[in-house]
Amino acid sequence: MSHTTDPTDPRLGRGVDQEPTAQHDVYLVLSEEERAQGFVRPVRRTYVHSKCGVATTMSQAIAETYARNPKFYGATYCCGCIKHLPVGEFVWDGTDQLVGS
Ligand SMILES: [Zn+2]
Repeated sequence: MSHTTDPTDPRLGRGVDQEPTAQHDVYLVLSEEERAQGFVRPVRRTYVHSKCGVATTMSQAIAETYARNPKFYGATYCCGCIKHLPVGEFVWDGTDQLVGS
């Protein structure tokens, strides 16, 4: 799995999955320059899916993108469901704070 800062990168996946799907090869992230402008949330690596209870840990670049812009992603991956699902179905590990808020 790798990252791109180009939102038009044709390798990017979109939205939520109806059927089990592997993680995408490439995920969109904010550039290092953008992330360096400061985080508005703690950098958290792990979230828990409220519907299956399984924790998923992200790359540092994606975690920092969430911390810089909590609304950057509309969908995120669950290792338990093996799908991309709406961020509102997830909470940060050890908290009751919704991902994306
Ligand atoms: Zn799940």
